[in-house]
Amino acid sequence: MNKATDFFWVTLMKWFNKNQRSYPWRFSDDPYHILIAEFLLQQTHVRKVESIYHLMLTTFPTIEKLAGSPESKVVDIITPIGLTYRAERLKKTAQTILTSYNGKVPVYYDELIKLSGVGDYIANAVLCYGYLQRTIPIDTNVIRLFCRYFGLTSDNPRPRTDKLLASRIREHFLPELQYKEANLAVLDFAGLICTANRPKCFECNLNDQCLYNNK
Ligand code: SF4
Repeated sequence: MNKATDFFWVTLMKWFNKNQRSYPWRFSDDPYHILIAEFLLQQTHVRKVESIYHLMLTTFPTIEKLAGSPESKVVDIITPIGLTYRAERLKKTAQTILTSYNGKVPVYYDELIKLSGVGDYIANAVLCYGYLQRTIPIDTNVIRLFCRYFGLTSDNPRPRTDKLLASRIREHFLPELQYKEANLAVLDFAGLICTANRPKCFECNLNDQCLYNNK
């Protein structure tokens, strides 16, 4: 790991230890819980998801229960946060996990990505937060922080969908330890400090080494 990468992770972890945000799914490393949380968090404000997450897990405490329940029951729970098409995908995914994976959320990316409604972000989130594997779930906020700090660019007008850029980040800038906490630190830091508009560079602990700030 080079100096800038080392500084990045060490600084982020120090910041995270004092400033981390607290959400119920962060206290779980059950891959099923992570899968439910990530489905609900898609394009939905995090604060709206908390009560629905609890309701989903009390109503469907296991994959078996979800797979065997009517889709309308899932729709009823998800309706307050919208995007109810997620209900069909969630149920389909639960059924596939039950029939093809013995009720256990797959532990391999290639299997996860084939599940209904599971894209690159959810697959990596399950691997990292559910199976504590060394990877980086990459969304718009995450990619913004990496691009700014490490001076990465993309020809793609939507860098979040740039697979080459994502592989580059995962190849060169993976955290050495505490993969779950490190990625949560990136999420929180990108959401609170390195924001899309008006990043708080003046109070940012990374500003010394950040290529965006020093250009
Ligand atoms: Fe983001 Fe500014 Fe910090 Fe760089 S210095 S990481 S651009 S907030």
